[in-house]
Amino acid sequence: MKIGIIGLQGAVSEHLEAVRRAMRKLGVQGEAIWVRKPEQLEDVDGVIIPGGESTTIGKLMQRTGTLERVKQLAESRVPILGTCAGLIMLAKRGDEQVMRTGQPLLGLMNIAVVRNAFGRQRESFEVDLDIPLLGEEPFRCVFIRAPAVKEVWGDAEAIAKFQGKIVGVRQQNLIAVAFHPELTPDTRLHEHFLRMCQNAYGHRMSGGMHTICDR
Ligand code: GLN
Repeated sequence: MKIGIIGLQGAVSEHLEAVRRAMRKLGVQGEAIWVRKPEQLEDVDGVIIPGGESTTIGKLMQRTGTLERVKQLAESRVPILGTCAGLIMLAKRGDEQVMRTGQPLLGLMNIAVVRNAFGRQRESFEVDLDIPLLGEEPFRCVFIRAPAVKEVWGDAEAIAKFQGKIVGVRQQNLIAVAFHPELTPDTRLHEHFLRMCQNAYGHRMSGGMHTICDR
């Protein structure tokens, strides 16, 4: 299995490490690669868009052609995980700040986001949240100038909330959180993502077989 981490700006090496730890935990053979160019996304089974500054990440993804490539991968059902700025990148709808900066978004998830939703006093904080998708144990969530989701529609659904705000969402092959799962030792979110990648790989393969058989 090969997971590409979009490595143009932000918390890249932490995700590389977290994916490797999660692979070891699950006993999955695979690698995590630092992606700077679209060619590196040729044969990946999953993509992670890290936290950082979504304005910068968006512009650099557009300039390098990785934006277009990730959109195509998502459309062919390759799983994508976005964390913090990565969640903003996945959204179909941004806020005034997104509009003002004209930052490019992938526009894949049926969600509307608010950047820096937790205000200046709470620039950065940690909290244990119940995320049933990841099991019974609460998950330690590190928020750093985090966004929030103010609306979900269609097939997008909330998977985590904090103080009435949605901070985690999923939609078919896409999953995004407003916090930084790569900054804690708990690899459950990365493990969940790797399982999504394994299942999607299985579906892509059997989908391909059906097309051949149907003919
Ligand atoms: N505040 C950043 C943004 O709006 C996101 C912060 C983060 O990724 N830690 O892009």
